[in-house]
Amino acid sequence: MTTAKQLSDPSCLFCKIAAGNIPSRKVYDDDELYAFHDIAPWAPVHFLIIPRMHIASMASLDDSHSQLMGRIMTLAPRLALQEGCEPYPTGGFRIVCNNGAQGGQEVHHLHVHVMGGPRPWSRG
Ligand code: AMP
Ligand code: ZN
Repeated sequence: MTTAKQLSDPSCLFCKIAAGNIPSRKVYDDDELYAFHDIAPWAPVHFLIIPRMHIASMASLDDSHSQLMGRIMTLAPRLALQEGCEPYPTGGFRIVCNNGAQGGQEVHHLHVHVMGGPRPWSRG
């Protein structure tokens, strides 16, 4: 069982990606956040934004994570444009954050999907 404050989980796929131990196609990084292209995109643009620290899901959040989550949400529109999403309102993007098995979460390191680009998409 992992805790909300855990910095890294050695068995976690996205911790390994954030550390550079598993290759990924980088979109953005800084000391708190990492963004990379989804390996199985649903849309012409589909990348993930993750905190570098291991947080299993939004269910693990507390008030100490407010600034971090705010940074993810304000970074998303900037990176969406950078990666080729067309501008709002005619373009735009979709944000998805799956939490828990019934929420469709497969990788248990908090991540926000950012999807966009011309339709149709393969999913979503
Ligand atoms: P979720 O169902 O919200 O947990 O989504 C996990 C996402 O991670 C899926 O969209 C996968 O395609 C993506 N994914 C899994 N492994 C990798 C990987 N090695 N590199 C990039 N994306 C991945
Ligand atoms: Zn992790």
